[in-house]
Amino acid sequence: MAAGGSDDNSGAAPIFQSLPHSQVVLGGLPVARALPVRGRRMVGPWCFLDRFGPLSFPEKQKLMDVPPHPHIGLQTVTWLLDGEILHDDSLGCEAIATPGGVNVMTAGAGIAHAEQTPLKTSHRLDGVQLWIALPDAHRHIAPSFENIATVPAIEQPGGVVQVFSGTLAGGLRCPASHYSALVGADLELQRGRKLELALDPSWEHAVILLQGDAAAGPGQPLIAGYLHYLNPGRSSLELNSPSGARVLLIGGPPFPEQILMWWNFVARTPEEIAGARAEWEQPHHPRFGEVKAYRGPRLKAPALLRPIAPPKNR
Ligand code: MN
Repeated sequence: MAAGGSDDNSGAAPIFQSLPHSQVVLGGLPVARALPVRGRRMVGPWCFLDRFGPLSFPEKQKLMDVPPHPHIGLQTVTWLLDGEILHDDSLGCEAIATPGGVNVMTAGAGIAHAEQTPLKTSHRLDGVQLWIALPDAHRHIAPSFENIATVPAIEQPGGVVQVFSGTLAGGLRCPASHYSALVGADLELQRGRKLELALDPSWEHAVILLQGDAAAGPGQPLIAGYLHYLNPGRSSLELNSPSGARVLLIGGPPFPEQILMWWNFVARTPEEIAGARAEWEQPHHPRFGEVKAYRGPRLKAPALLRPIAPPKNR
């Protein structure tokens, strides 16, 4: 699927566009996909947003078990409201994502990772995983992994703001490495109060309701299961909640490059996708490495839907 330049960001009139999530199942786990969806492929450099939970599961069940799989050209960002996810990658990094902290994996030229419920678990899971498309100048960099145990947070009138990626207009900044201007924030709204956030008017944004009930401004209720897109041109966002809420905010300057997303890859051409797929399908190919901490077979790449012609004149 193609993403990027096809979205219309022009026009000064404020747009509040509500787009339903699609429902998918990932390794037995029901997931609501908020990005990409029909009508919206990206919000700034954010190109993927999966919402899972809230879920609770019995003692003997391992809720999440995603075997080793590859990524290129993107960063993954894992943000939890409840529960825990164990990350292991082919660099040998291991970290447990927990609420209040963020895991950021930079795939760059290529990495493999596995994600699973750790042995010691609360038996609950509630969170999001997002992907950020890397800009062309940085998409072939060496892979890396960062775990930030506690992200910057500030209490302000009407609620608590936690910034898990980038910078919120007005100052709060998460120290994880990023390669485009962007923000990812969790907004906890107090019951019956208003929270006002400054926005960069040259950025586009989107919000999703994570918990409770909330509205943007006086008349735009946030609907559970919908991504609400806000076009550039706004210098602030006012949120209110009759009974308390958690709201996810993402944003950034409209991404200036056309990307191509397939499976776990973000690239620019079908040839790059086919090349990365072929390298993953070769056991022990050095591009992605091995996730040595994971016991069990890795994921196989799906078949390409259509054959990709080799590049011409090369
Ligand atoms: Mn992954």
